[in-house]
Amino acid sequence: MNKNIIQLTKKHVAGTYGRYPIALVKGKGSKVWDKSGKQYIDFVSGLAVDNLGHCHPAVVSAIKKQAGKLIHVSNLYHIEPQSQLAEKLTSLSFADKVFFCNSGTEANEAAIKLARKFFFDQGKTQQTEIITMHNSFHGRTLGSLSATAQKKFHTGFKPLLPGFKYVPFNNLPATRKAITKKTCAIMVEPIQGEGGVNIPDPSYLKGLKKICQEHGILLIADEVQTGFGRTGKLFAYEVYKAKPDIMTLAKAMAGGVAIGAMAGTNRVMKSFVPGTHAATFGGNPLACSAALASLQVLTEKNFLSKANETATYFLQRLKEIDNPIIKEARGIGMFLALELQKPGNDIVIDCMKQGFLINCIQQNILRFIPPLIITKKEIDSLVSVLSNSLAKLNNK
Ligand SMILES: *Cc1c(COP(=O)(O)O)cnc(C)c1O
Repeated sequence: MNKNIIQLTKKHVAGTYGRYPIALVKGKGSKVWDKSGKQYIDFVSGLAVDNLGHCHPAVVSAIKKQAGKLIHVSNLYHIEPQSQLAEKLTSLSFADKVFFCNSGTEANEAAIKLARKFFFDQGKTQQTEIITMHNSFHGRTLGSLSATAQKKFHTGFKPLLPGFKYVPFNNLPATRKAITKKTCAIMVEPIQGEGGVNIPDPSYLKGLKKICQEHGILLIADEVQTGFGRTGKLFAYEVYKAKPDIMTLAKAMAGGVAIGAMAGTNRVMKSFVPGTHAATFGGNPLACSAALASLQVLTEKNFLSKANETATYFLQRLKEIDNPIIKEARGIGMFLALELQKPGNDIVIDCMKQGFLINCIQQNILRFIPPLIITKKEIDSLVSVLSNSLAKLNNK
């Protein structure tokens, strides 16, 4: 029953994704079902999007209600859910103002443009360079791709946008050394996601902030993956107690609906004036209503503390798996990984056959980013399947 969908995809959809041979057609909470009716417990969450679980009733209801009222109007006019969402986001973060778009890469494009415009407005037209980190991931459009310091994503797409300088992640001296008169910002994921769930020293973000302050440049936190509770707090910059000047958001923001945002302090946001930047769908009523509902649930009392307790248990269980193939079990909040000595794709396929969705990045790192509502029982069942699967791989 999955077959038709797979055939149509292969024939008519651009081949940009290496897909597993199942078609997911239904989801509820931490579970999804494929076309044949097979159930999976989802430790992928649409890539850190479904933080509330699939089809959260509050989000579904908000979408239904808004869809019957107003789906889209232009930013030529004021939009009620957009104004409410901006108020909510700024009340929950360091930011004063928000620019809305539709994806992570778009949010980063906005941040790159704003950083340049901020210095341009001060007459510093040469101060255009942004420092980013090896193994970063900021998106696939050309600006964000140029910010992404991973060769494999650049291959075939040169020339890239000029004005980016790459330094090793979690290395403050190298970052400091890379700064010149041309540098306008440092852009960083507080924890690298696609690059391998790389968790820096606890003082790293603070250190970057200090460097930025010393040089009068901007700190841009790409919280597209770390945002909305994934790392234990609403935003990862709170975990590390260092406020950026700009943060970019997307993925989990609207309970599964496409949305993105670039949020900043008044000081920088004042450089975005009418005509400088735009997105047709940005801040549309439907997506903003979904985001409002989603934020409401995320900020309910005990929601994150309960998730964090479960996450601590999850990491503990991963650390207990005794197998020489495992190089390291690591995690922060519900953002976890098992780094292996061998490629991990066979494990992903084996787990999928047994009803668990997990994801492998950088060839050998299994990433676990389940909905924040995942239960200890579901974690236990994954760990049991995973342990067996790893044992099989070790004996190969
Ligand atoms: C996923 C991701 C992006 C890109 O988001 P899209 O919505 O796919 O454009 C950017 N930055 C980080 C840190 C991400 O994880």
